[in-house]
Amino acid sequence: MEMATYKTENREMLLEFLEKHIGSAFTVRHIVSEMSTDGHTDVPSESTVYRLLRELEKDGRVQKTIDPVNREYMYIYSGKSGGKVNMRCKVCGNVYTADSETSRRIMADVAGCGEIAPDDEIELVVKCKHCRKE
Ligand SMILES: [Zn+2]
Repeated sequence: MEMATYKTENREMLLEFLEKHIGSAFTVRHIVSEMSTDGHTDVPSESTVYRLLRELEKDGRVQKTIDPVNREYMYIYSGKSGGKVNMRCKVCGNVYTADSETSRRIMADVAGCGEIAPDDEIELVVKCKHCRKE
């Protein structure tokens, strides 16, 4: 019971930190050190933060990217779950929605491009299978 409460507090502390820094990329080490300078005395360990970030990543609320300089993983909080990637055919105008795994990957790639914080929706202009045949 006590263990569960403890975990929830860690999660809330992390979310509170991430909410303040929506769209910014941080390494786990950076998050932990920033949280300690925020005046928290009971900051979760790096391994706990890492595990919580993995959970948030699965929910689609956090995107993982690699710091091009020191090759460390960085995490970006989007504040929203999911995120949708639509593909609109430039010929017929039909809109196809990418599956959630593909959407998540595309969102993460776009977030890794640099100073861009992807919105919860991305639209790609494509030529659909049907129109490609003609
Ligand atoms: Zn088409």
